[in-house]
Amino acid sequence: MERTLVLIKPDAVKRQLTSKILSRFEDKGLKIVGLKLMQLSKEKAMEHYAEHKKKPFFDNLVSFITSGPIVAIVLEGKDAVTVVRTMMGTTNPRDAAPGTIRGDFAMDLGRNVIHGSDSVYSAEREIKIFFEEDEVLDYERVIDKDIYENL
Ligand code: UDP
Repeated sequence: MERTLVLIKPDAVKRQLTSKILSRFEDKGLKIVGLKLMQLSKEKAMEHYAEHKKKPFFDNLVSFITSGPIVAIVLEGKDAVTVVRTMMGTTNPRDAAPGTIRGDFAMDLGRNVIHGSDSVYSAEREIKIFFEEDEVLDYERVIDKDIYENL
């Protein structure tokens, strides 16, 4: 099983899309193993987006992601990183396919409602920024055998 970090960004929290977005992941069969509403500090935002430090949109991105509450989520499942990226849709929501989260809920690159780790390596790094070890929980679901053929 793989784990990935999802952030419901401040635009989506303020638009009251949190439960709709969470439902999509639950309906898919991904397991929520970490979940919190939080206000990100500038320092943590810069650490999270460190790979974009030299990009022209970096300052706007940091100020946007710290502009209001976010919901941080750890999802677990087979190929969770790729499954979540596919469900999110392309970075620019105007290009994102209908049926994806960005395709259905967003219009602008700088207001694209969701973040999802882009690799297993990034996921491991990012989860540590947002969650303490004891805030990511292991538990069994009785539905697992109806979601996966082979466990
Ligand atoms: N972003 C932006 N302008 C750009 C490119 C990216 O504001 O020209 C923002 C956008 O919100 C995106 C985030 O920076 O979600 C991180 O960019 P990345 O390329 O990692 O896209 P993602 O992995 O979020 O699809």
